[in-house]
Amino acid sequence: MIFVQAKGYGNQKEINYPAYMQGINYGTGITYVIGHKPPDSDSVCTVIAYANLKRQLGINAEARIGSPINAESAYALNYFGVPVPKVLDNAAGKNIILIDHNSFAQAIPGMNKANILEIIDHHNLIGDIRTSAPIYYRNLPVGCASTIVWLEYNEANVPIDRAMAGMMLSAILSDTDNLQSSTTTDLDRQAVAALEKKAGIKDCDSYFLSMEKDLAAYNDMSEKDIFYSDYKEFNIDGVSYGCATVLALTPAKREEMEKRLGKWIQQNFNSQKMDMLFLKIHDLETYQATLSCYGKGALESGEAAFGKGNGNIIPLGTNMSRKKVIRLLQPAIANWRLSSAS
Ligand code: MN
Ligand code: MN
Repeated sequence: MIFVQAKGYGNQKEINYPAYMQGINYGTGITYVIGHKPPDSDSVCTVIAYANLKRQLGINAEARIGSPINAESAYALNYFGVPVPKVLDNAAGKNIILIDHNSFAQAIPGMNKANILEIIDHHNLIGDIRTSAPIYYRNLPVGCASTIVWLEYNEANVPIDRAMAGMMLSAILSDTDNLQSSTTTDLDRQAVAALEKKAGIKDCDSYFLSMEKDLAAYNDMSEKDIFYSDYKEFNIDGVSYGCATVLALTPAKREEMEKRLGKWIQQNFNSQKMDMLFLKIHDLETYQATLSCYGKGALESGEAAFGKGNGNIIPLGTNMSRKKVIRLLQPAIANWRLSSAS
């Protein structure tokens, strides 16, 4: 890798400023680092860690969130004494670095009028983002955007303090389900091994469980709040669909949640304005997941992708990430659309 000497950043002469970033015009105003909406821990903790890295590289970067954080992120921020980032309502006209997403559908409003300078992501390319200048776009097939950010700290030789290590560690554990998810790579494992030491976490399993217990409690949340707490929208060949991810501590709690949210979806399906709705729930005891399917063609598409369901609930086996669910579901929905149109 080729570096240029960092300029004007006090005594931190040992920092490697990536040469290719000289071509990016960050200007003198604030560059906002922001994840998807609603934010998961990758879109909160990674955003904080990346904004910090950019500041160490001399860029006037600040972390922002699109909407309030969930209980898991709150646990991590509180544990490491990191303040909750401010909300950015609209991205129009602002200098933006996108984290953990690459589509307007998952971005905060006004992103189509923003000046996007960088994207750091680990999702498939959905492809509706256009920019007026070349950007720094780093997309790696790893378990979490923080794994990429950890790599960049190392490449730039920027020291990682306890709080930033904690942020990246929390994001990786969250996104990879404590390194259990099918999306986990050796790079994520290496990052966790390095970061847990710096974060002072001796027992990663129990830290992860504490974080997840707070999330899975869904305290004081309505069915609607729970359904939309980790929800993404997609579109294939004119079919719009949404997929929510919900967490349960035990298989019994998973079944309870399938019923509770299933009832709410059935009663409120029409007002959600999507052709299909999917709900993926997994539990943290067995890592078994299920996919509940709602709307015309949803169950047919789901069964084509994952096999027979019990009613409208399809067992997904263990360690199935939403990313993988969408990858398999998307062509099945496209096929269903073709066959139902003919
Ligand atoms: Mn995410
Ligand atoms: Mn992520």
